[in-house]
Amino acid sequence: MNAVVLKAGKDKAVRNRHHWIFSGAIRDLPEFDDGDILPVRSAGGDLLGHAYFNRKSSIAGRMVSFGAGAPQDEVRRSIERALALRARLFDPAVTNARRLVNAEGDGLPGLVVDLYDDVLVLQVATLGMEKLKPLVLDVLTGAFRPRAVFERSDLPARREEGLEEATGLLSGDRVDRVRIVEEGIPFWVDVSGGQKTGFYLDQRESRRLVRRFASGRRVLNTFSYSGAFSVCALRGGAVRADSVDGSAAAIGLAQENFELNGLASDSGVFFTADVFEFLRAPALDHDFIILDPPAFAKRKTDVVAACRGYKDINRLAFQRVRAPGLVLTFSCSHFVDEHLFQQVVFQAAQEAGRRARIVQKHRQAFDHPVNIYHPETAYLKGFLLYID
Ligand code: SAH
Repeated sequence: MNAVVLKAGKDKAVRNRHHWIFSGAIRDLPEFDDGDILPVRSAGGDLLGHAYFNRKSSIAGRMVSFGAGAPQDEVRRSIERALALRARLFDPAVTNARRLVNAEGDGLPGLVVDLYDDVLVLQVATLGMEKLKPLVLDVLTGAFRPRAVFERSDLPARREEGLEEATGLLSGDRVDRVRIVEEGIPFWVDVSGGQKTGFYLDQRESRRLVRRFASGRRVLNTFSYSGAFSVCALRGGAVRADSVDGSAAAIGLAQENFELNGLASDSGVFFTADVFEFLRAPALDHDFIILDPPAFAKRKTDVVAACRGYKDINRLAFQRVRAPGLVLTFSCSHFVDEHLFQQVVFQAAQEAGRRARIVQKHRQAFDHPVNIYHPETAYLKGFLLYID
C-alpha cells in the first residue's frame, strides 16, 4: 500500500508516540479517501505506524498504531487495554459509571466511550474513527453485552471533518435516562438530551472531596449542571447547597437528583441564572463556593479572554465567600495550563484583597488518563483554596 512519507526531520513527534500529524510535516501523500488508514513512513523509509487521514481536518492525520502491527488489530488491542486499565479499579455495586475510552489518553484518537450502568454512550469526533466504528462496537458489545448503545456525536467539531452531528440509538433498548450510582450516591443521567454524554465523570474525585469538606457549610455550587456537587455536599453534611446554572434543563435535572437522594426541598435553592451576574449579588452567605465553568478557551487564540473570565469569577467568589471559607475552582481548558491557572487565581485573590491558600490540587478522575506521549490529554485542573 502507498504510504504517507514525512519530511526529513519531521518524524520526531510520531517517533515519540504523539498521535497528531500536521500537513506541514508531510512530504508525500498518496491517493486516498478521507478517513482511510495509511502507513506512515519516515523520509528514510522506516515504517512508523498507521494513521487515518482527512484532507478537510486541520490535523491531517491521527496515528492509530505505532510500529509494524496491522492497524485494525492494534485498535482492537488499544480498546482492550483501555478496558483493562479500568477493570479492577471500580466496585460496580458502589460505582457503576465510568469512562472506558478517553480518546488519545487511551491511544484512540477521536473516540470517547462512557459506561452508565449497562448503557454504553459513544462519541465519535472524526471521520477516521467513524470508519472504525463497526470494529469499536464489536469489541465493546463483546465485552459488556450492554442493554443499549447510544451515540452522542453531537459535536460541532465534526463539521470540520465533513461529518454531520449524529445522535441516537445504535443498538438495544430505547433509553433516555439511566440511573447510576457513584460512590454509593444515585444520580439520573440523561444520555439522550444531557450535556456531553450525560454526566461529568471527570469530576468524580472532586465530588468525593466536596463530600468530605462540606460538613456544616453553606455551599454554593455554580455551573452546577445536574447538581452532582450539591448532592455530594449535602450527603457530606452541608447545612445547605444552592445550585446555579444557565440551563433550565440542567437545573431541572438537579432538582430530580435531589429527589432521587431524598433531600428535603429546603436543603437548597435552585437558580437558573448567569453565574457572572449571580456572583455580583451582594447578599450571599456561603462559606464554600464551587466554580466549575465550561472551557472558556476552546482555541489557543481564546486564552487571554478566557483568563479574564476565570479571573472575574474567581475574584467575585473570593469577595463573596464568608471567611473562613473554601473555594473549589476549576479550569477545563487545555490551553490554560495549571501554571497559568494558578497565576489567574493569584491575581483574583490579590484584587479581592483576600488571603488564599491552596490546600489541595485536582485533576481529571483516573478513568480519564493522560497519555504521557500526548500531553494535550491533560485538561482539567482545580484548586481547593482556604480563604480567610
Ligand atoms: N459541575 C458540573 C459540570 C459543569 S459543566 C458537574 O460536576 O456535573 C458547565 C455548566 O455551566 C453547564 O451546565 C452549563 O449549562 C453551565 N454554564 C455555562 N455558562 C454559564 C454561565 N455563564 N452561567 C451559568 N451557567 C453556565
